[in-house]
Amino acid sequence: MTAELTFATTRSEAPTPDAEREKILADPGFGSHFTDHMVTATWTKGEGWHDGRVRPYGPFSLDPAAAVLHYAQEVFEGMKAYRHEDGSIWTFRPERNAARMAHSSERLALPVLGEEDFVAALRALLQVDSAWVPSATGGAETSLYLRPFMFASEAFLGVRPAHEVIFSVIASPAGAYFSGGLKPVNLWVSQDYARAGDGGTGQAKCGGNYASSLAGQLEGIAQGCDQAVFLDSSTHTYIEELGGMNLFFVTRDGRLRTPALTGSILEGVTRASILELAPDLGLEPEEARITLDEWKDGVASGEITEIFACGTAAVVTPVGELRWDGGSVASTAGEGGGEHTRAIRQALLDIQYGRAEDTHGWLTRLA
Ligand SMILES: *Cc1c(COP(=O)(O)O)cnc(C)c1O
Repeated sequence: MTAELTFATTRSEAPTPDAEREKILADPGFGSHFTDHMVTATWTKGEGWHDGRVRPYGPFSLDPAAAVLHYAQEVFEGMKAYRHEDGSIWTFRPERNAARMAHSSERLALPVLGEEDFVAALRALLQVDSAWVPSATGGAETSLYLRPFMFASEAFLGVRPAHEVIFSVIASPAGAYFSGGLKPVNLWVSQDYARAGDGGTGQAKCGGNYASSLAGQLEGIAQGCDQAVFLDSSTHTYIEELGGMNLFFVTRDGRLRTPALTGSILEGVTRASILELAPDLGLEPEEARITLDEWKDGVASGEITEIFACGTAAVVTPVGELRWDGGSVASTAGEGGGEHTRAIRQALLDIQYGRAEDTHGWLTRLA
């Protein structure tokens, strides 16, 4: 698909003062500060994509009947911009995010935005907001989190795909996702709540999946866990993923196993990249259906040596204890995660921050 959009820029008349921005970048947290600008574009039935803009960050004016508020016709992406040591700004495998958003859009009956327009939107935003990409000196894991999203803005309460849709990109400077460093996360097995089911939207990146994961997440927190892990919704025996991260298991005999994509698991770019990196790190990648019992027995027997979760925001996070109603499995993680967990994490970060050669061709320059 060729480009349909150009982006006209209107600069903010009241950008964040330099000193204030620097203060935010020194301790950005996650997801609570936003840059001075945003991208918007509109799609209408008949006209297609048009009216691409970079404009001052600010609220949308939405009709109360906007379809997204009622029927959740919405998709999003999550990616990061990394500043390299020479000051240049790069992102990781954006073509994968563009393709995934296209698949998500098809599943949610939203229009597809082509890869060229998707990447052009990121570049257009970085043109004006590049000062918001923190420098990652001294191995700091700071970046600018990019959030492309699309939603049904048409004011219409009938149930059908909306005839007017807005695409937007906002950006938020990010420190480490989980405050407190590489601490293992304890997981709660959500047995009463599923995040996705057969034929549902589990493999689309849509807000609705997150809404449906929150009850399980809350239950987990009430049980003293950090996150919930979801099982397949029909047999409740196979491990799928967390609310927003995929899972990996390292075995004693050097395999790196992750739940196979069954249709209700979101295919993470991090997951795909780790599977591709595994051989470089002396591990044999394997996608398989993995049962909860294999987790319990594998940890007990020592067959499973490490477990970790992965996603763009948190990169790679060691998994500690697993708990459910009536039992638990001990952690394999130790203090800062196992040896392979840390090696995989470091290998990814080194590529993303330009500290290792990008032999896979995964980086795209944004500014
Ligand atoms: C976004 C997401 C992931 C991680 O995907 P990445 O592309 O690696 O960031 C995993 N699971 C779910 C449900 C997600 O929404």
